[in-house]
Amino acid sequence: MGQALRARTELEGDLRHALEQREFEVFYQPRVLTASGRIVGAEALVRWRHPARGLIEPDAFIPLCESTGIVLELDRQVFATAAAQLARWQALGRDLVLSVNVSPRAFSDPHFAEQTVAVAVQAGCDLSRLELEITESMLLDAGDGPLQTLRAISASGMTVSLDDFGRGYSNLATLSRFPIHALKIDRAFIAGLDENQPVADLIAQLCRLMKLRSVAEGVETEAQRRWAAGQGIEQAQGYLFAPPLPLAEFEALLDRP
Ligand code: C2E
Ligand code: MG
Ligand code: MG
Repeated sequence: MGQALRARTELEGDLRHALEQREFEVFYQPRVLTASGRIVGAEALVRWRHPARGLIEPDAFIPLCESTGIVLELDRQVFATAAAQLARWQALGRDLVLSVNVSPRAFSDPHFAEQTVAVAVQAGCDLSRLELEITESMLLDAGDGPLQTLRAISASGMTVSLDDFGRGYSNLATLSRFPIHALKIDRAFIAGLDENQPVADLIAQLCRLMKLRSVAEGVETEAQRRWAAGQGIEQAQGYLFAPPLPLAEFEALLDRP
């Protein structure tokens, strides 16, 4: 236990140092139209470019960032990078929507919406092309804090999507109270299509009932893409199209004829 605690404390120190040294890098995973495969946007996904250990995926450090609160600063860096990138793409005439993940912790900060909007405005990007990905757990707060925050975000022109839809409680009555523009269907349902298609069909039906745009996550096969297209799921993301890519590779993909 002592050893585990030491390792944790060391990692925490490394993470704070990494923030100062700007070792976090944003990768971009294309979001495509399910029917045609055309790229219409991207999700910004963070990576840690560790000087000794190389590239580290978020699952190895996001949980500790969450429990220590470091995630707030990390998310601020990722969002600022994403907003600046979006402004550059717009200047080049690239018509993309960029989505950015937000930690549930952000919702306990009463200034979150105001600060986020200010950063986007400062970056000079079109706010209607920025999307914040939130998770259901953020909405379970008993007070009306999350509602106020989402209203302010939405009033700025930014959109909000619910990440990993179907994984949590998905209390539809609760969900419908919030200004949410899109649902991202958790990749477990897409991966489980072979064994449990009725459940995936039900989730797709829920998206239609809620009259929200939907995005299928983790699409890896042509059969999964066809299923999503058949269910009217407008957009998809997954290894079938591309994994999260470093900026240069993502841009090369956009330029491919
Ligand atoms: P997420 O937001 O649900 O992101 C989707 C994850 O699915 C990404 O994992 C992506 O690489 C992976 N993925 C995409 N297509 C496929 C596929 O076809 N098959 C499979 N098996 N996986 C696929 P990644 O990049 O490792 O990120 C993991 C999670 O870490 C994200 O899940 C998100 O919750 C969190 N995360 C990533 N970046 C940030 C960030 O900047 N801030 C915060 N707060 N969380 C982040
Ligand atoms: Mg996400
Ligand atoms: Mg997700």
